[in-house]
Amino acid sequence: MDTQHLSGAGRLAPSPTGGLHLGHARTFLIAWLAARSQGDRVVLRVEDIDAGRVQVGMIEEAIFDLQWLGLDWDEGPDIGGPHAPYLQSRRPELYNEALDRLKSQELVYPCTCTRSDIARMASAPHLTDAEPLYPGTCRHRSVADASHLAAEGQLFAWRFRVNPGQISWVDGFQGPLSIDPSQVGGDFVVGRSTGEPAYQLAVVVDDEDMGITEVVRGDDLVSSTPRQILLYQALELPIPAFTHVPLVVDFEGNKLSKRNRAIKLSSLSAADVDPRRVVAWLALGCGWTNEFTLSDPCDWLNNCRPLDLPTTPWKLTPQMLRDLRVS
Ligand SMILES: [Zn+2]
Repeated sequence: MDTQHLSGAGRLAPSPTGGLHLGHARTFLIAWLAARSQGDRVVLRVEDIDAGRVQVGMIEEAIFDLQWLGLDWDEGPDIGGPHAPYLQSRRPELYNEALDRLKSQELVYPCTCTRSDIARMASAPHLTDAEPLYPGTCRHRSVADASHLAAEGQLFAWRFRVNPGQISWVDGFQGPLSIDPSQVGGDFVVGRSTGEPAYQLAVVVDDEDMGITEVVRGDDLVSSTPRQILLYQALELPIPAFTHVPLVVDFEGNKLSKRNRAIKLSSLSAADVDPRRVVAWLALGCGWTNEFTLSDPCDWLNNCRPLDLPTTPWKLTPQMLRDLRVS
């Protein structure tokens, strides 16, 4: 596809930490349709910066799973493109350069707290966020303190200062949203004590570098958005549109786990399930149709409004799982 004249872009950003499942399939299908139906580019970016959690073979498996489902992309680790590399693990210079810019503005400080320190000191976790509120223990430090800490052999992360205040945006699915990130997580890590970049900074740097104009992702990431907006503002980068869609839950209403093999795309493809059957169930669950129709993602391009979705999480049903066992 000639992408030169297309200005907008969406992205598929899997983490290779445990295999994609039906929940990922639904979010990626929606994100793909949202971009393609506007004639936008689609970028595949693999979020593999958390080296300790990346599993061998999972990058290839994620690419295979998405292709099996019938999705395609204009740029990605398998086909290259103008913003290569598309693996976050291969882009450390970009993240370090952004971190240096934050340091030069004294917007970050070295933090020596461990995860357990923070869990112990923090008050009860915020109701809507599993992450404890950072209590500000190291906030008095300046960037220059980092050299003393390093000389003492102390490990430290870089934490971004979050001042109190609501961050508002108009979500593409949920409408106007407003969150005070100083009350949800508080000061957050942008550079890890291992020297690796942290998720929030890498995502912002990459989305800007890759020209992403609309971020479509699961609503478990809503609390990340105000932090990312703060980073866009600090780095003076254009802020993309954000769209957070409801997740898929199991029979009991719990978030799907990457450990549940039954719902993994790799298990379904290995069992010779027709991927058009998966897309048919996803389309039903998204409310784009009342009929079960074997279909490819392309079949929905001009036949649905991808963001016209139920507002509640989509619950998997025993009937659907039984059906997907049939090859
Ligand atoms: Zn600290």
